[in-house]
Amino acid sequence: MSRGPREAGEGVIDAAARRAALVEVYNHASICQRCPLHETRDRVVFGAGNADAELIFVGEAPGAEEDRQGLPFVGRAGAFLSEMLEGIGMSRQQVFVANVLKCRPPGNRDPLPEEIAACEGHLFRQIELIRPKVVATLGNFATKLLSGRPDGITRVHGREQAVSLGGNRVVLYPIFHPAAALYTPRMLQVLEADFGRIPALLGRDPAPAPVVAALRPVASPAPAEPVQLGLF
Ligand code: URA
Repeated sequence: MSRGPREAGEGVIDAAARRAALVEVYNHASICQRCPLHETRDRVVFGAGNADAELIFVGEAPGAEEDRQGLPFVGRAGAFLSEMLEGIGMSRQQVFVANVLKCRPPGNRDPLPEEIAACEGHLFRQIELIRPKVVATLGNFATKLLSGRPDGITRVHGREQAVSLGGNRVVLYPIFHPAAALYTPRMLQVLEADFGRIPALLGRDPAPAPVVAALRPVASPAPAEPVQLGLF
């Protein structure tokens, strides 16, 4: 798949311009009042990770801990995501993690269609600027939004689709949300198998070690980056 100037040796200026534009998107999102969720949020959770990532994960919406820290996937599901990544020989520092919604829905209820419509521009712009090879959608909301199709995650998980996002061709790879495996242990094997295909989709060597062998209780959240933009 062609990735445009990046793959052909994108200049430092282009990379710097993409980062600067991403910081602009962050600045806009961090004061966004486009939907009522701004009234109940503590922090906007823009997303975090590597601004040049080849792999972006897109979850659903911040939970309580994410809202408190202003960082995505820092609760139990986040620790589990980190563990699954380690299982395929990758780290959170190599990827970018974002959500469909940047603000927490009260009580962790499902995102509303009008909230998604108000927020999706931030996500599309993030994908446009980061220009990943693979966008892994975690669960139903991200999968339906980014595939533009109504098919649910149970039907499409583990099956990559070629899509155009933010003006770039990317591989969309739907997988179950890590929280699903936290609450339904038999889901773990499915998640492991789907995660196991990510290196191949990225054109990397297969994972060096088997992925997570057993679902363990997560004692504490993964350490948060001190500053959300630190890895940009
Ligand atoms: N934390 C997030 O940031 N997103 C989710 O979808 C779930 C937990």
